[in-house]
Amino acid sequence: MAFTVKTRRLLIVGLILGWSLTLLYSFLGTVRSQHWRSRKKLYQDNRVLMGTFWQVSSPNRQAAKIVFAEVSRIEGLLSKYNPGSEVWQLNQRAKLQVSPETFYVIQQAYNFWLKSGGAFDITVAALVDLWGFTQKVYQVPSDEELRTALKLVGSDKIILHQKDNVVEFKIPGIQIDLGAIAKGYALDCAVKKLKENNIASCLINAGGQVYALGDKFGQAWKIAIRSTSQAEIAAELELKDACASTSGNYEQFFVKEGKRYCHILNPETGYPADSGIASVTVVAKSGLIADALSTAIFILGEEKKDQLIQQFPEVKCYIQSGNFYEKRYP
Ligand code: ADP
Ligand code: MG
Repeated sequence: MAFTVKTRRLLIVGLILGWSLTLLYSFLGTVRSQHWRSRKKLYQDNRVLMGTFWQVSSPNRQAAKIVFAEVSRIEGLLSKYNPGSEVWQLNQRAKLQVSPETFYVIQQAYNFWLKSGGAFDITVAALVDLWGFTQKVYQVPSDEELRTALKLVGSDKIILHQKDNVVEFKIPGIQIDLGAIAKGYALDCAVKKLKENNIASCLINAGGQVYALGDKFGQAWKIAIRSTSQAEIAAELELKDACASTSGNYEQFFVKEGKRYCHILNPETGYPADSGIASVTVVAKSGLIADALSTAIFILGEEKKDQLIQQFPEVKCYIQSGNFYEKRYP
C-alpha cells in the first residue's frame, strides 16, 4: 500500500502523539498511586513507659513523639516507682501539696473507691508489695502478714484538702498505687495533646489498653480482644474516639502449688481478686474511666458488678467468665 508524503507525515505525528499520551497517562498513574500510598501510610513507634510497652500508629509523623513526651510527663508525676514523682514523695511523707493534676487523679480514684463499694482502692500498695508484685519476687503471705498489711489499706484513710491540693494519710505507712488508673489518665492527656496539634487520627496501644483517636483512613480502628481460654480472638471491636481497657488474670500473675495469683487485689480479703471473671474489657470515651472501671469490675465479679456499671450508662463491657462465654453490656 502506497502512502502519500502527507499521509505518512500524519501517521508519524499520530504515532508520536499516541506514545506521548500513553507515557503521560502511565506517569500520572504512578504519581497518583504513590500519592495514594503515601496518604495511606501509618507511622509507627514504640516506647516503654509507665512500666509497659506503648505503641503509637498514625498517618501523622509527629504523633508518636507528642504521645511519648506527654506520657513521660505524667509518669514523672504519678509513678510510685519514680523517685521524685509527686506520688513517690507523698508515699514517703504521708502529707503533700501536689499539682492540680495529681490531685485530680487521686480524687477520681477516691470517687471510684466510693462508687465501687471499696473494691477499687489505691491504698492497696501495701498488699501489692506484700505479694511481691512490686519487686517481682512473689510469695503467698501468712495470715499475720496479711492482717498487718490490711491495716494500711482503705481509702477512708485518705484526706483530700480541696482548697490547697494537699493529700494527707490519716496513719503513717499508707502508700498509694495508681497502677489501675494512671495509664488511662495518661492516654486522655496524650489524646488532648494530639488534638492541640491538629492530629485527628491515631491509635495508641498502652500495653493492651487502647485509645483510638478519630478513624483510620475513613474506617473505624479495629482491635481484637484476646480469648482467655484459647489461642484465638474472643471479639473484634470497632473504635472511634474511644478507649478500650482490659483487666484480666492472664497478664501479670504467678502460680504457686497449681493456683494462680493475679496482680489485681481484693482490698477486702487482701488476696488477689478471684471473682470468676477471667477478663473484662470496658469501652468508654475517657481512658481514665475505662481503666479504673475494668479493674473494679474484675474485682467485683458477675454478681456485684451491675451496681457499678449502672452508674456509667455510656460505657460498654465485654466479659469473659470462668466458664468462658462472652457477655456484653448494655
Ligand atoms: P494493667 O495495669 O495490667 O492494665 P489494671 O489496670 O487492672 O491492669 O491495674 C492493675 C494494677 O492496679 C496493679 O498492678 C496494682 O498496681 C493496682 N491495683 C491492684 N489491685 C487494685 C485495687 N483493688 N484497686 C486499685 N488498684 C489496684
Ligand atoms: Mg485499670
